[in-house]
Amino acid sequence: MNIEFFGAAGEVTGSCHILSVNNHRILLDCGMIQGGRKAEARNRDPFPFDASAIDAVVLSHAHIDHSGRLPLLVRRGFSGPIWTHRASQALCHILLEDSARLGENDTERKNRKRVRQGKEPLQPMYTSADAAAALRLTRGLRYREPEEIVPGVTVTFKDAGHILGSCVVEIKATEKNETRTIVFSGDLGQYDTPILCDPEALTHADVVLMESTYGGRQHRDREQTIAELGQIIKHAKETGGNIMIPAFAVGRSQELLYLFGRHYDEWQMDDWKIYLDSPMAIEASEIYWDHPHLYDDEATKLRKGVRDMPPLKNLTLSKSADDSRRINRHKGGAIILAGSGMCSGGRILHHLKHNLWRKQNHVVFVGYQAKGSLGRRLVEKRPYVRIHGDNIKVAAHVHTVGGLSAHGDELDLARWYSSFKPSPPVYLVHGEKRSARKLKEKFSDEFGARVTLTDPGMKLDLITNKLTSRGVPL
Ligand code: ZN
Repeated sequence: MNIEFFGAAGEVTGSCHILSVNNHRILLDCGMIQGGRKAEARNRDPFPFDASAIDAVVLSHAHIDHSGRLPLLVRRGFSGPIWTHRASQALCHILLEDSARLGENDTERKNRKRVRQGKEPLQPMYTSADAAAALRLTRGLRYREPEEIVPGVTVTFKDAGHILGSCVVEIKATEKNETRTIVFSGDLGQYDTPILCDPEALTHADVVLMESTYGGRQHRDREQTIAELGQIIKHAKETGGNIMIPAFAVGRSQELLYLFGRHYDEWQMDDWKIYLDSPMAIEASEIYWDHPHLYDDEATKLRKGVRDMPPLKNLTLSKSADDSRRINRHKGGAIILAGSGMCSGGRILHHLKHNLWRKQNHVVFVGYQAKGSLGRRLVEKRPYVRIHGDNIKVAAHVHTVGGLSAHGDELDLARWYSSFKPSPPVYLVHGEKRSARKLKEKFSDEFGARVTLTDPGMKLDLITNKLTSRGVPL
């Protein structure tokens, strides 16, 4: 019985690990590597295992850095079940189909150029048909509903509070009369996050595989963050402009709409026209809407008074490109939520092009902006930016609102871990080395925990607790 660490060992994206029990191989996540062209080229590399020899996949949540290579896994021979939460199953339909389409479009664009240069056309990493095949293999479970996925291995999902349907995975594995409880944290959310429940407390584990994205860091106070957002909206009313909010389709968009509803009177939202300008965010919102049993108490209470989507009376769901273009007629009084979250593509680009050069307008960033993205250049307050080949003057106010992260910070991670009694050994995944080291320090000091930073190729024997790396003892 052992675990091998592959993806998201020593980095943040590309989550993927293998649990072997009784000669059955179970993949925990099959995520896409993200963050620039060079890193992303690794997605096409052969898997460090035989895809057709995997018996089952357990998927912690729908985010692409956890699910994005499932279609490729299927293309390369995997045909077993993909176990995940029912809500993740629904969200995967949007995210994997979109991922396939993006890949196909990208390849098509490159091929137009290559043909002119007399070069061989490229193939997309995977197609919409591969995504559809992967989706057909998904099996949805509820939280706290144990399922024996291969003989001797039972999986139970607990709420991770990160996005809708996100799971902490509890695995009970038995081999030759020895049973081990392995807990895989997936991505953990913040406590008191809007809409979702808090990460669920577990009390026993023999081994914990834990994310460490925000090791060594603390988020800004949530209530303060929300108050700041309200201030920006009031200020924008005074300047008479539009507000553009680049937001990710799953999670952040729904959270913002929820906050608009919760503070509707206080923020005088009646003065605004609100646009959700993203077919993907609209679909994701519908899935959030259809899973009210997964809400926390406050969201449940708020939801009770509202019958239909959209929940805000001044909210317009802009599905078509024409709907999106029509938003341009507003010179002020519009709040526009559109993707992509880092302004690296999508409809937000044409809104920025129309609005950035006028000083009464506002751009509000509510999520992380990676190096090299247009979002990052705006956050850095560059005087001019390039959009669709045009140089655009940045006269609008640019705000960065921290504290709305879907990931728990160091205090949240410690709070979640503290419910295990006694403190089990921890293997840190899903974090840059620096964050993981900080978290290791904290857990050693605070809980006396034995913490190990993982690297790709590390293998943990779950019976003897011996650790090896490519066959060499550590
Ligand atoms: Zn995630």
